[in-house]
Amino acid sequence: MANPIKTLVTAGGRIICLRCTAMSKRTKQQCRAPAVKTSRTNKCRFHGGRSTGPKSAEGKARIAASHIKYGTETIAIRIERSKSSLVLAKLEDIMHLTNMTNACRTKGRKPNGYRPIRNTEEAWLFMLGDALHRVKASKGRAK
Ligand SMILES: [Zn+2]
Repeated sequence: MANPIKTLVTAGGRIICLRCTAMSKRTKQQCRAPAVKTSRTNKCRFHGGRSTGPKSAEGKARIAASHIKYGTETIAIRIERSKSSLVLAKLEDIMHLTNMTNACRTKGRKPNGYRPIRNTEEAWLFMLGDALHRVKASKGRAK
């Protein structure tokens, strides 16, 4: 579940408290227990609500190593995608600058490191730079 339900209403609607955000492996549903008040991660007493995380250096290293993946992709894939979307955002600027399109701009936050291209000199600098060539080279290597 992408967005777990954060609150729990109990005692006939008289008590509203935080709900445990743990997910069941078996039923794929959210835990129905109230979260421990002092829990940083909104977990109940069965799902580690009192845990304060790893204390030893090796425990912290193990947790850091285990969090290198987001779902099925690694941080390296995310960085590469961010670079590609940066190139796409600049190409969109060039398209609007040269009146190739009058479509709406892409909504949402711009990629990291984005600076808008406002004139043709900046567009030429971008196109002559190696940003485009780098993307092509990395795609060619992957195949
Ligand atoms: Zn729970």
